[in-house]
Amino acid sequence: MSIGVGVLGTGSIGADHARRLSRRVSGAHLAAVFDVDPHRLSAVREELGVAGHDRAEDLIEDPAVEAVVIASPGSTHTDLVLACTEMGKPVLCEKPLAPTTKECLQILEAEVGRGSRLVRVGFMRRYDRGYVQVKRAIDEGNIGVPLVLHCIHRNLTAPSFFTSDMTMTDAAVHEFDVARWLLREELVQVAQVPVKRSPLVPEPLRDPQVVLCKSESGVLVEVELFVSSQYGYDVRCEVVGSTGLASLETPTTSAVVHRGLRIQGIAPDWQTRFALAYLDELQDWVDGLRSGHTTGPTAWDGYAATAVAEACMRSDDKGGWTAVSLVDRPKLYW
Ligand code: NAP
Repeated sequence: MSIGVGVLGTGSIGADHARRLSRRVSGAHLAAVFDVDPHRLSAVREELGVAGHDRAEDLIEDPAVEAVVIASPGSTHTDLVLACTEMGKPVLCEKPLAPTTKECLQILEAEVGRGSRLVRVGFMRRYDRGYVQVKRAIDEGNIGVPLVLHCIHRNLTAPSFFTSDMTMTDAAVHEFDVARWLLREELVQVAQVPVKRSPLVPEPLRDPQVVLCKSESGVLVEVELFVSSQYGYDVRCEVVGSTGLASLETPTTSAVVHRGLRIQGIAPDWQTRFALAYLDELQDWVDGLRSGHTTGPTAWDGYAATAVAEACMRSDDKGGWTAVSLVDRPKLYW
């Protein structure tokens, strides 16, 4: 039986998720959509021929909607996730789970209170085939003991509303989740490294930013975030181990050799770079719902990534190493 999925937020990623659910994911269908922006809502409704609602609550309560994708801005996630969990409806919530740990903890409390997991966080890099191979190399012991992780996250340009804190809560959380997932341990300390501002970036945005993190066992994780790099979307990851290294390579592209130059394109944006990962993520979520197995990044993972982002913002004020404060992990998430 096909699962009816509703999508809340039909902007950049929400519209893409709606298209994937409508055309490419098996075992599910797009049941309804909602966006506070009536133009975005009607564009997706017309393109996909799907029912629309006037309020998020109506979509969540719609009996035809058995599971919900939340793709509205991060500041709206907590209320929407809580409304879904109250109705007992599984959720795939885009990152960040919430921009503050206070809100993330409300979500954990709701899930722990009902005694089962309903929330999955959209850390889709865990489905990217390159990252999966890097993880396999670590898990199979092919590079020995991981010692240092280098992560790079560069966007072409940042939207005008983007802030230095959003670099942490909206962009860096991907890197923090990747590091925790690859290493299978929490990041427990962070330090901001002062970096010269790009002269092309409007005040007060600090760009690039570099943070250092330490894992429980002492692995050093270096993260560079440059949200207006001007040249493309570039995500890199290299894990240095005691006997070798594993690195994320640019997915297969073509190269043009011409007039003494060898030109190889890079992805302009996250939609292009991670297209397959978004599809695999959605398919895995739907397969899990159909089989009754809960897989993928949990609300705890969302909380832990936001906790590291928060510590980075605190570290910015104080300088030096700052502890990441995490509550004890509830049994539900072990
Ligand atoms: P976007 O293009 O601005 O789209 C968000 C849409 O949601 C907008 O149309 C917005 O309307 C609408 N909205 C606001 N409040 C809402 C509510 N309460 N209910 C329903 N719709 C609401 O943003 P986006 O780039 O798609 O990002 C959406 C989320 O996905 C963010 O959390 C972002 O961090 C995440 N994201 C994840 C990835 C990834 O790699 N996993 C990539 C991109 C984005 P208004 O503009 O009128 O507020």
